[in-house]
Amino acid sequence: MASNTDLSTPKHIEGGCLCGALRYAVDFPEDHDFKNACSTCQCTQCRKQTSSFFLTSHVVKPLSAFRFTSQTTTLKDYEASPNAQRGFCANCGSLIYWKPKGGDYTSFAVGTVDALYLWGEGADGVTVPKEGWGRVLAAGEANHWWTGNEIKGVTDNIPAAGYGRGKKWKGDE
Ligand SMILES: [Zn+2]
Ligand SMILES: [Zn+2]
Repeated sequence: MASNTDLSTPKHIEGGCLCGALRYAVDFPEDHDFKNACSTCQCTQCRKQTSSFFLTSHVVKPLSAFRFTSQTTTLKDYEASPNAQRGFCANCGSLIYWKPKGGDYTSFAVGTVDALYLWGEGADGVTVPKEGWGRVLAAGEANHWWTGNEIKGVTDNIPAAGYGRGKKWKGDE
């Protein structure tokens, strides 16, 4: 079976929050490692902030690879822990990114990527594949954090999130 990372990969994607006040673009560097850039997190902080069982995120370096294309008046950085910022829209609540303070990367929330790029809504099949790039953005062979918090029978075996291909971490060790 072809690995998810044998699929076509994007050079550029766009996304934004639910209300549309925050818009961003990601320009992937030539050597971007799609395989190891996606992760899921089941920590209680991600659960509470997304109101979901897990966060799916994708890491891009350097910081300039992720940029806001809109004004950022509704962007708020919440610090659930002293070493990281969780950027979200104060108007609609969408979590946009998680990033370490002073770090050189942005881990953006894949759920905020536009439908065109995520699953191919309105894709022409040329500039964006018909099925979009959700699979390469979200189901690589990377890290699954805080699996010690798995909910048995619900989140302990998520094939679509890349469980089985990635590396499971009980916490953030
Ligand atoms: Zn918003
Ligand atoms: Zn987390």
